Amino acid sequence: MSGLNLWQSLVSCSTNALKSGALQPISTHHEFLTEAGLTFLVHVSDNLQRKTALDTLLRSRAPDFNPFLPYEEALFVADLSPTHLCLLNKFNVVEHHSLIVTRAFEAQETWLTVADFAAIAHALSAIEGLAFYNGGRDAGASQRHKHLQLVPYPLLPPGYDLPLEVAITAMPDPHAPNPIPAFRFRHAFAPLTPTMTPADLHRCYGELLSTAGLHYQGEQQTAPYNLLMTRAWMVIVPRSRDRYQGISVNSLGFAGTLFVATPEQRATLTTLGPLSLLEQVAIPLP
Ligand code: AMP
Repeated sequence: MSGLNLWQSLVSCSTNALKSGALQPISTHHEFLTEAGLTFLVHVSDNLQRKTALDTLLRSRAPDFNPFLPYEEALFVADLSPTHLCLLNKFNVVEHHSLIVTRAFEAQETWLTVADFAAIAHALSAIEGLAFYNGGRDAGASQRHKHLQLVPYPLLPPGYDLPLEVAITAMPDPHAPNPIPAFRFRHAFAPLTPTMTPADLHRCYGELLSTAGLHYQGEQQTAPYNLLMTRAWMVIVPRSRDRYQGISVNSLGFAGTLFVATPEQRATLTTLGPLSLLEQVAIPLP
């Protein structure tokens, strides 16, 4: 499927799924929080009752319930590759948030493969945005069936830049694999070039995992981590836990957008500061 067609399918599928009720966006408003010169976007849930009802629904599902096999037909966007397809994220906060899932069951806690990178690269070539992977429960994943995710740019309103993009631009040399000075926790960064093949991206991923201190061996991941990737760069962040003081963090938090479910969490986040929250759920520098 060509790039334009993938975007058109995503837009028309979202419109139809909204009309039919298959898509159930989480209603939020946004606020901003600045720490160390980086302005984070905070999505604040508008409807606590609905959020609580959703949490109860998700918890009431059998532990082996798999929302992606079979998937809901109304959420199907496109076939991406022989091994992967694209679905709408049913409970989205951001518009046009898609999931890139494996056709056959693979566990979320296995390392990414060349086929995963072929699917992400295909989706990213069609849609400029942020691809990400929550590697395991402690990295923010809620489903066991392997799913990468893609949110289209821009993630912030006009006039604001994504904190991670700001932090990368400010690096002394963003054109080489280097640490990001704003990240005061273990991580690894590498620039990408348009000519990289899925095998090149997979090799880069393995190198970043090792640089970030993860034991990259076997098929099962050896520790939780987040992967963030655009057309221009890849970042790995090893994780210590999925939440701190009740605030859950997934890959999007490291890009610079957070979600809080209650006014209390919003207040906690203001006291802590967004970068300090990230530090608490990542791993301290050696
Ligand atoms: P994560 O929570 O990062 O593992 O991402 C999984 C996503 O799957 C969540 O953001 C949910 O909103 C979404 N989800 C849950 N059930 C379904 C479903 N039936 N179809 C599509 N997406 C779903």
